[in-house]
Amino acid sequence: MSIATIIRNAKVYQPEYAGRKDILILNGKIAAVGENLTADFGGCIEVREIQGEGMAAVPGFIDSHEHILGGGGEGGFHTRTPEASLKDLTMNGITTVVGCIGTDGIGRDMTALLAKAHGLENEGISTYAYTGSYQVPVRTLTDSILKDIMMLDKVIGVGEVAISDHRSSQPTFQEFARIAADARVAGMLSGKAGIINVHLGDSPRKLDLIQKVVHDTEIPASQFLPTHVNRNAALFDDCLQFAKEGGTIDFTGNEDIDYWETICDEVRVCKGIRRLLDMGISSDRFTISSDGQGSMPVFNARGEFQGIGIGKASCLLKEVRECVQKEDIPLETAVKGITSNPASVLKLSGKGHIKPGYDADICLLKEDTLTLDTVIAKGQVMVQDGKQVVFGTFEKA
Ligand code: ZN
Repeated sequence: MSIATIIRNAKVYQPEYAGRKDILILNGKIAAVGENLTADFGGCIEVREIQGEGMAAVPGFIDSHEHILGGGGEGGFHTRTPEASLKDLTMNGITTVVGCIGTDGIGRDMTALLAKAHGLENEGISTYAYTGSYQVPVRTLTDSILKDIMMLDKVIGVGEVAISDHRSSQPTFQEFARIAADARVAGMLSGKAGIINVHLGDSPRKLDLIQKVVHDTEIPASQFLPTHVNRNAALFDDCLQFAKEGGTIDFTGNEDIDYWETICDEVRVCKGIRRLLDMGISSDRFTISSDGQGSMPVFNARGEFQGIGIGKASCLLKEVRECVQKEDIPLETAVKGITSNPASVLKLSGKGHIKPGYDADICLLKEDTLTLDTVIAKGQVMVQDGKQVVFGTFEKA
């Protein structure tokens, strides 16, 4: 028998705050948002209720940059990072993820990335991918960026192409502009974003290549989603300028922010978003991603490998919570960075909002602590009372 679900009396953030409402979920979609909703299907459909008192209902999180297949390897083969499991995502509120390959585009390739994305989709969440890796020329699954984006359902753009980094292929302006042009045209022809997800490294060249394409060609700033914008203060200054000119910038969350802020000049996400808002830049112009399962290698000034950590998807909610609790940014604004903003810049239809007709991807957060209580993906309860209830194929109940 089909099941309908009603979430009762939660504070609904669509992400705009809509007041205390009920949410009716039917066939994996949000059927209605309103007060005192009733659902009577004459016994044909079982109706279940979830009590939403004391909860904030926000859209399921969209992680626009995660190494679902694992990444890393910068310290040798034993430093390749593990794949993401369903639990790594749903237990952190993520109901939509965009997979990417990082430094190593040989040991990991598009065939394996797409296989992994399909696997996670089979397990209950929504998945997409960027074609390519750090490297230029971009290593695609078919013979071109255009064909990958146009003909492979899950591929929504190119990435993460690395610039301003000692691990980058050091693309020329012409090479970089060609990638952007191909992604843009493929996006237009297929109704997708055709976004170029650009890994920004630590070098003083910052986002110069992106700026040059925007200034010297007809390709607009909106075609790019530069990531790791908060990795150092000087880079972040330029990225704010890019956002001011109509670009969207992607903060990389950090599970261990205190540590990173003390050893280098990484910009704390909540402080960066506060600055962006104070400059009068639209709250639509930022996203936060986790870089989950990506490596966090530490190099010395000579570029020699010192050690490695791993990105964690748990940083997303942590960063949003910090925005609210430390910088007094309203939840409805902060949460846009992991819901409606990535949905919009990546053109993910049916995602990022709690509104009728949208996919029923919903997180219930405890109002007082902003911790995760319930996660629903495409209408299916994945996490309940903070515990995983739907398990990945090799996860134990
Ligand atoms: Zn990266």
